[in-house]
Amino acid sequence: MKKSIILVSLSILSFLGNAQQENKQQPNVFLITLDGARWQDVFTGIDTVLLNSSYTQDKKLLTKKFVGNSTEENRTLLMPFFWNTIAKQGQLHGNRNVDSKVNLTNKMVFSYPGYNEILTGKADDDNINSNDKIYNKNITILEKINNSESFKGKVAAFCSWDVFPYIINDKRSGIPVNAGYMDAIGNLNETEKFLNHIQRQAPIIWEGVRLDVFTHHFAKEYVKKNHPKMVYISYGETDDFAHEGLFDFYIKSLHNTDALISDLWDYVQNDAFYKDNTYFIITTDHGRGVGSDKESMWTSHGSDVKNANQTWMAILGPKVEALGEGKNEQIYTNQIAATIAHILNLDITDSKMGKSLKL
Ligand SMILES: [Zn+2]
Repeated sequence: MKKSIILVSLSILSFLGNAQQENKQQPNVFLITLDGARWQDVFTGIDTVLLNSSYTQDKKLLTKKFVGNSTEENRTLLMPFFWNTIAKQGQLHGNRNVDSKVNLTNKMVFSYPGYNEILTGKADDDNINSNDKIYNKNITILEKINNSESFKGKVAAFCSWDVFPYIINDKRSGIPVNAGYMDAIGNLNETEKFLNHIQRQAPIIWEGVRLDVFTHHFAKEYVKKNHPKMVYISYGETDDFAHEGLFDFYIKSLHNTDALISDLWDYVQNDAFYKDNTYFIITTDHGRGVGSDKESMWTSHGSDVKNANQTWMAILGPKVEALGEGKNEQIYTNQIAATIAHILNLDITDSKMGKSLKL
């Protein structure tokens, strides 16, 4: 009797061990978005026309920090992680100067439709045509992953914008979404308690969008504690600073977000659970204009702003071919969801979604 109990327990232990092992071997994905960050800034560095315009407050400082002797140098100064790490170990798509094109397929060209397209793999202009807090009827790739046997309870989202609980439909999907000024909940560590406390003590610039540093650290603490396998992090500052015409802040935020992503990659690559088995997919929900005239206003985006549907994406991970910059290609934002499914080896796509990229 005793013997058989021991045998049973041993086999349960070995089963659990295998399950854990398997779980560890399955890849992890971090999907990261920067709201309304232009491909022009990612691929050519600081916009020197805007730098020398009235939109810039401290020309001297921005010049010192972000202007080098070439386009290559400028973009590396602005986004060092993108150009020192992703460009060397992964892929960067969307530089239209080398005919690498990434476009939205939705015609709205603003946030909710953009995130819906990224997260579901298809545009839905009939139903998703405002930024209103309406629960998304579409099922995101995050929800499909969370519904799959091996990833149940292993999906989490951290977002600066307070509309995300609706976009991801946290009620239906059961995915924990910490967005806007929401506190971390559950069994909190000291850092999370501190973050809950200080996120409202820091300047509240926008009621609906918190500063990205908080989103980042809420995500990082959760990741350390729970080791989710699918993480979505949505940074928001870039879009809001741009809307206000604050070029200095837009540029500094882009630079800072690059550093936050670098911090996360650094953590992941030094953590036994994630190391060499984790993919970062980084993109944006829409582009914006390039100039100061009405049709192409850099502060703005939407269907009436020229070329604001031009976007970009970056991919980094163990089985991603180190191609650096893509050339002569046309990619669409609706391909991201299927690419995630492909990486995770999950059969959760349908014929209406964009096709997975070849990595
Ligand atoms: Zn916007």
